[in-house]
Amino acid sequence: MKKNLLELELTNTCNARCIMCPAGDMKRKKGFMKRETFELIIKKGIDYGIQRVRFCGLGEPLLHEDFCHFFSYVREHSHYITELITNGSLLSKEIVQRLIDHKIDFLSISFPSLVRENYERIMKGLVFNQVLERVLEAIHELKKVTDTHIKITSAVTDINCDEKTHLEHFWTQEGVDCIELYTPHNRGGHLTDMGSLNLPPPLGYSANTEIKKSLCPWPLRNFFMAWDGSVFLCCCDMEGECDVGNIYSDDFSEMEKKQESICFKQPNLCQRCSYQRAKIILKKEISI
Ligand code: SF4
Ligand code: SF4
Repeated sequence: MKKNLLELELTNTCNARCIMCPAGDMKRKKGFMKRETFELIIKKGIDYGIQRVRFCGLGEPLLHEDFCHFFSYVREHSHYITELITNGSLLSKEIVQRLIDHKIDFLSISFPSLVRENYERIMKGLVFNQVLERVLEAIHELKKVTDTHIKITSAVTDINCDEKTHLEHFWTQEGVDCIELYTPHNRGGHLTDMGSLNLPPPLGYSANTEIKKSLCPWPLRNFFMAWDGSVFLCCCDMEGECDVGNIYSDDFSEMEKKQESICFKQPNLCQRCSYQRAKIILKKEISI
């Protein structure tokens, strides 16, 4: 199946240690994507027919000092739809201006609580007031001059599960286009301490709920590329268990075949993963 979305891990380092994310335990070598790797990915992606690029992964994309260069490069060399997923803490004036100048199409910000203590328990390492100020400024500046689709996402845990209405009202008033609240999953089984994330029904799922063994749709639609050009099954494959290829030695069409063959075999990674029983608790498109 032809894939049209490229998920790029510009770095696998992060300035936060969120409770719903195993990134802090990653053993894979830490690093930052080189310009030559990025440019090769974009060029090969155009030849293959990629239509959308998403800056994401188990790492904060804005930690990369070349983020602005990468974003401009995509705009100048492709017709890709562009998307940034961020924790919002590094949305500086310079970065926001670049997002405006080259009009980012989709901006998704993880912001799980409006209560300082709750936020700082979930997004460990980030300072609530500082991030909120930056995120609000970014939303207001982008909304003045662009039609960027801005989404706030929130993992729902037992820390913030009574904030649903507050989150919905607050972000609606601030002018975002979409709010999405979801129950976290164990990310390929890498998140071993689900602690506060194990919500009972009706919000969460019962511990006895079977993990579905049906084919996961994620790798059938996307490629996930790590900072060094390695291609893995998805961003939950954080140690590179399912090696799909490498941008230096393989073309997208070869990797597409290999990825599907791995996916259909339902590797151990997917057997452990609870992605398919995670729930969207609220998805509200405000601007429609
Ligand atoms: S969820 Fe995002 S911000 Fe939080 S630790 Fe993981 S990569 Fe970093
Ligand atoms: S089931 Fe497999 S492919 Fe799907 S999200 Fe989990 S690890 Fe990734």
